[in-house]
Amino acid sequence: MLPFIRSDLSQLTAYIPHSQDSLDSVDSVGAKQESELLVVDRLDTNESPYDLPDELKQELGWALQDVIKSNRYPDGGHYALKQAIADYVNESAGLTHSPLTASHISLGNGSDELIRSILIATCLRSEGSILVADPTFSMYGILAQTLGIPVVHVTRSPDTFAIDLQAAQIAITQPQQLPVRVVFVVHPNSPTGNALTTAEVAWLKALPNNILVVIDEAYFEFSQTTLASEIQHHPNWVILRTFSKAFRLAAYRVGYAIAHPQIASVLEKVRLPYNLPSISQVAAQFALTHRQKLLQTIPQILQERDTFITTLQQQPLLKVWQSQANFVFTVPVSETPGFAEIIFQSLNRQGTAIRCISGGLRITIGTPTENSRTLHRLIHIVGSTPLPSAMPSNA
Ligand SMILES: *Cc1c(COP(=O)(O)O)cnc(C)c1O
Repeated sequence: MLPFIRSDLSQLTAYIPHSQDSLDSVDSVGAKQESELLVVDRLDTNESPYDLPDELKQELGWALQDVIKSNRYPDGGHYALKQAIADYVNESAGLTHSPLTASHISLGNGSDELIRSILIATCLRSEGSILVADPTFSMYGILAQTLGIPVVHVTRSPDTFAIDLQAAQIAITQPQQLPVRVVFVVHPNSPTGNALTTAEVAWLKALPNNILVVIDEAYFEFSQTTLASEIQHHPNWVILRTFSKAFRLAAYRVGYAIAHPQIASVLEKVRLPYNLPSISQVAAQFALTHRQKLLQTIPQILQERDTFITTLQQQPLLKVWQSQANFVFTVPVSETPGFAEIIFQSLNRQGTAIRCISGGLRITIGTPTENSRTLHRLIHIVGSTPLPSAMPSNA
């Protein structure tokens, strides 16, 4: 380790979302002529499978050319975009008297940046730890680690993925090495696809004001369930949303926080001055203007998801759950150790990228073609595996 680097960083490895290596290796082991035909279905990062429609892509291209002066720094205050987002959030939460304004919004280079800003603003300098319920979005823990912030883990029910609220309550009330300052939840959760339960929301509402509650609604446009209307009543809540999923803008990196103006202004303090490139600001504003058209693909994705789930339910070796988002979580039931990993590797070799996490598989819903190809491959892999009871004891 380099002598000037913080010692705790030697435990960390860089986060590389797409396992580019393993996908590339498909080409090198496959026959040369076949490698050109190999299609990689990227069903591992929960984006929309659809790029912008051609006419909108062109229009955005022109808008970028017209509006942006390359020699000038971006708008560092993001005012116009914040205003447009506030309007969208009010609308999306059915808040007709428009209580949320630009002052309730802070923008990040993806919501990942906002997660880091929240950690910097709350727990840094050994002032606190964070609480997460596993399995959940890995970025909270990863970013906390890079800042030397401890992470307190509680579990979820293996059947329903409901948070162990008793353990969570103990974690926040019993003295920890550092007190829990932030609770992170995803609504609906990734990788498991379940929305917050009534009991979980009640617990979050009852948390004391010295704990910040972060509700990550990255999949809101798929779930259509939001707690945005609660922001007015809870000065210790932050809701995170993103343009990376349903809005089809993952390449542009725009996320936003919705919170009490006092929290929003703290997030503004700790972020980098020009965190959002001009192209990203223009693209996000453009996406909001054209939201009806961009969000039109959602019903079809949800229908594909439900068909996907129904098909997997017929596989005796796969346990599968309902999902409120654009991905499906399934856990193989098998006596073969590491069966999830085996399925994951096998799909990967065939050109289907998914996530293998917490002993299960998280599969993003793609285009109908990608989905049926994936189902076909998955069923083939699982179907050629004997049922646990039929397995010879020396297997
Ligand atoms: C995809 C995702 C995000 C989005 O991150 P960006 O940095 O905005 O792309 C945030 N939270 C969760 C739970 C996600 O799944």
